[in-house]
Amino acid sequence: MNYTIAVIPGDGIGPEVMEETKKVLEAVGRKFGHQFAFQTVLAGGAAIDAFGECLPQNTIDVAKSADAVLLGAVGGPKWDALPGEQRPEKALLRLRKELGLYANIRPAKVFSDLADASPLRPEIIGKGLDIVIVRELTGGIYFGKRGHVETEFGEAAYDVEQYSVGEIRRISRTAFEMARKRRGIVSSVDKANVLESSRLWRKTVNEVAEDYPDVTLNHFYVDNASMQLIRDPRQFDVILTSNLFGDILSDEASQITGSIGMLPSASLTDGNFGMYEPVHGSAPDIAGTGKANPLATILSAAMMLRYTLNLPEEADAIENAVDRFLAAGFRTADLSGGAPDALSTKETGDRVAAMI
Ligand code: NAD
Repeated sequence: MNYTIAVIPGDGIGPEVMEETKKVLEAVGRKFGHQFAFQTVLAGGAAIDAFGECLPQNTIDVAKSADAVLLGAVGGPKWDALPGEQRPEKALLRLRKELGLYANIRPAKVFSDLADASPLRPEIIGKGLDIVIVRELTGGIYFGKRGHVETEFGEAAYDVEQYSVGEIRRISRTAFEMARKRRGIVSSVDKANVLESSRLWRKTVNEVAEDYPDVTLNHFYVDNASMQLIRDPRQFDVILTSNLFGDILSDEASQITGSIGMLPSASLTDGNFGMYEPVHGSAPDIAGTGKANPLATILSAAMMLRYTLNLPEEADAIENAVDRFLAAGFRTADLSGGAPDALSTKETGDRVAAMI
């Protein structure tokens, strides 16, 4: 089959990790008889430098017409002084909105060969950890009404958390469907003891759950969830939550794995379309040094094969290659504490591609 992939390398280490990811996808193509046509477009700082705007219309058009979108990372100190609306990171928020990517899927997986990278004790982490966070991505407080008003205490600012039943229903279905393919547990996280929007969230999740009698549903307040994630993370399978709580909890979960260079993510819409990107940013501190770990982006490509292109065997091939790479003792600098024999970005891409 032929697939068109919109590729947005971005800034910093983005282009470096993307190069290796394309290499691995090409190896998958050769093994399974697929052609991946990569259409490279700009967003973020690279687009500001080339076109004066962080998200050119052409990037949106190419992304919309592709089968899927692969993104490296955007941002960097060069553009930090720009006002909020013009910053590279704004490109991400706009892309999510333009493409209708309302479901952010972040697996937090501790590979058994990397269990000692986790800051949690071995008796807590066991032989590994495998959680998926399903975060609502285009609603809630990040997109709600905001403004400034004068009060008796002086100037005040506000941001409104608002969720509709429709928005809660569709993200809930994503979580329940995902749980069905996994261990069958959805943990919905809210603050229903305080927030009206959370009470509607909980009521709606309960209603959706009636369509999934085979899935176990439990509810956590966000403060308890953040504590339980450290105390006993293995109790979780799929965590379903809002934009704000998901932003925070997914960073917490990523730290439990101990290796931000390993974490992929997907942002999905209705149907199969999605944008796939590593959880990490553009890491300007190591850009150009060959130290970037490309595995998060390579594993994001595996998610793309699984969720959008419906190629589970091909996705397995990438994930198994990464497992074998780690089991063979190969490590990038971030995983080896800077050991002198750490593999470079390119050596990692070459080895994983060869292991496909
Ligand atoms: P970061 O994730 O870029 O880096 C945090 C730390 O992790 C750094 O020490 C970095 O060297 C290390 N690191 C990150 N990815 C790595 C990899 N693949 N291999 C090895 N080490 C890795 O976060 P930051 O420093 O807070 O942000 C840097 C820039 O990236 C900022 O401009 C920020 O806005 C942007 N950012 C973009 C995205 C995105 O594009 N989705 C996400 C987060 C941050």
